[in-house]
Order: sequence, then structure tokens, then C-alpha cells
Amino acid sequence: MYTVPKLEDYSQHALDRAVVDLLAALDSETRELRTDSDWKTFRDRWMARKNGVLTQVNDTWLKAAPSPAKRDVGRRVNELKTRVEAAIEEAHGKIHASSADARLASERLDITLPGIHRPIGVKHPVLRVMDEIVAVFKAMGYSVGEGPEVETDYYNFESLNFPPNHPARDTQDTLFIAGQEQKPARDRLMLRTHTSPVQIRTMEVQPPPVRIVIPGKVHRNDPLDATHSPVFHQVEGLAVDTNITFCDLKGTLDHAMKALFGSSVKTRFYPSFFPFTEPSADMQVSCIFCGGQGCRKCKFSGWIELLGCGMVDPNVFEFVKHNGYDSSKISGFAFGMGVERIALLKYEVESIQLFYEGDVRFLEQFA
Ligand SMILES: [Zn+2]
Repeated sequence: MYTVPKLEDYSQHALDRAVVDLLAALDSETRELRTDSDWKTFRDRWMARKNGVLTQVNDTWLKAAPSPAKRDVGRRVNELKTRVEAAIEEAHGKIHASSADARLASERLDITLPGIHRPIGVKHPVLRVMDEIVAVFKAMGYSVGEGPEVETDYYNFESLNFPPNHPARDTQDTLFIAGQEQKPARDRLMLRTHTSPVQIRTMEVQPPPVRIVIPGKVHRNDPLDATHSPVFHQVEGLAVDTNITFCDLKGTLDHAMKALFGSSVKTRFYPSFFPFTEPSADMQVSCIFCGGQGCRKCKFSGWIELLGCGMVDPNVFEFVKHNGYDSSKISGFAFGMGVERIALLKYEVESIQLFYEGDVRFLEQFA
């Protein structure tokens, strides 16, 4: 560390040497500075009024100088003061520039980098189709109903005119809840095999007129294959009012199919059987792939079977007669369709299993 020496004499040579030594020390100390606190220590060491290097120079060299040398020493001391001040200012600038550079470098933001991709989820195709079907009927003034998936024998079968031991029950392989043997038959629990129980549940609480669609999950003891699944979705519909006829049923469903598949689609109705409707019908739509010409998808018939429907059986109204459903005064129609079946057609999907496997490569196509 540099200390201010006493001058041996005041010759030009001695003064030159002392000045050169001091400037060399100043220069080397400047180069050691790294941080702002280094710089403050450095500044105080050289500039402090009390005992700073310049003060020492003033005291040791100038004040002690003999009169003839005072003028020359004074000039040199002033020059040194200017040099020291300049060096301190320059060092300050360098330290601040480098710390600002460092901060900028650490905060560097490359706006050309690609952003973080966050994929946005979409509705599952089955839910999307279910919502579409519901929307078609909502536009016709239907409201939406829901019911429990674990249902009693009474609501799932008995009140829909499936008497105990009736063979029609065999068409819906049912998943029963275990340990129900102690209960009366009509109270035993099962997973609902169709959304139809919500028809009865709705009519129990709402007197006629009723216009309702019932979307939901149903369960059957079917092994999984290309067109069957033990869990699938249905949309059920029910309209009850005075003077409802089979023409209303046909008109309603024909309109719904045109809304779902396009205005060129035709519908036709074939006699069928369901315990809770009489008469009952299967409805077919003209093949949406070939327009009715005949192709592999419609087995060259030009028609595709799509849903079951019919006029509500008076026996069903008997179960809710107490709430104003007198079959001599009112009538109604009901229909039910499988959502997966319509989704398979609409999206030309080969197997129902694709809807449940959760394979992102499949689902991404619907994004
Ligand atoms: Zn076809």
C-alpha cells in the first residue's frame, strides 16, 4: 500500500520521482477496483480531508517546502489533485457500467425463442355430440332433466311397464348392486340401463304438460366390442300434453335429425316394441355417407337405424296418474338415442372403444 514519502530534497529530479511513484500507485490501485464498495474505500483513501493521500501530499510536500520551491511544488500538487480526481471519476464510471452490463446480461430476454405451448382442452367428442343433441331440443322448447345413475327396480323397470319376470327385461342385461336380497323387489338397486327412469321421476314432480330431454350415462352388462360398451350415453326425450299424436313425434324427430345431420337427411319409421311405448317404432335416417344410394356403411340398404321411439303407453301414465297424467285426457311421445352411436356416424369412427381409451392422438382430432 502506497504511503506518501517525505521528500529528501526539492530538486526537480526528486519531485519528478515522487510524482511518478504516486501516479504509478494510483494507477495500480485503480485497476484492483471491482465493486462499488471497493471504489468508495479507494475514493476515501485518496480524497479524505483528514489524512487522505492528497491531504498528506499537501502537508508533507507543500507545507514543508522551502519558500523558493513552494511555487513549483504547489503547481505539481494541483496537477496531482486534478489527476487523482479524474482517476476516481473514471473508476466510478467503469464500475457502474460493468455492474449495469452484468445486470442487463442476467436479465437478457430472447424474444425470438418460441413460447411455452399450453394446449387448451376441448370437449370430448361424446359430450360434444350429447350437447349438440340437447341443444337441438332446447331450441324446440325442451328443458333438461337429470336423474341418479344408481336406480331402483321400480324406476328402471316396473314403472316403465316392465313387469317382474317380463321377457323384455332380458333385452337389457342389467348390472345389479350386490346384497339387495332382503329388500322388496321394486326397491332393489341397479345401475340404470337407460335414461328412461327420469321420465317417471319428472312426471312425479311435474304435472303435464312436459317437454324434457334427459342426457346421461347408462350401464349394461355388455362386453366391450366395436359397437358395445358396458357404459355409454343416451339422450331420452319425453313430450306430454293434450292432443299429442304420432305426427308430432315424427315431425319432431325429423326436424332433430335434419338439425344434426343436415337438411337433406330423410327419416322413416318401422314398427318395433318397447314396453313403455305403444305403438313403438324404430327410426331410420337416410344414409349420411351415400345419401341413400347404398354403401358398405348402410349395408347397401340406404338407411341407418338410429333410435327407438313411440307413444307413451297408457300403463306408464297409470303410475303417475295422481299427478294429473290421465291417459283419457293427455297423451305423449318418448324417444331415446345412443350418443356414441350418433358420434360414431358423425365422425366416421370405426370403434366405440376409441372414445374411452383416452388416446390423445385420437382425441386431438377433435381439438
Ligand atoms: Zn350408405
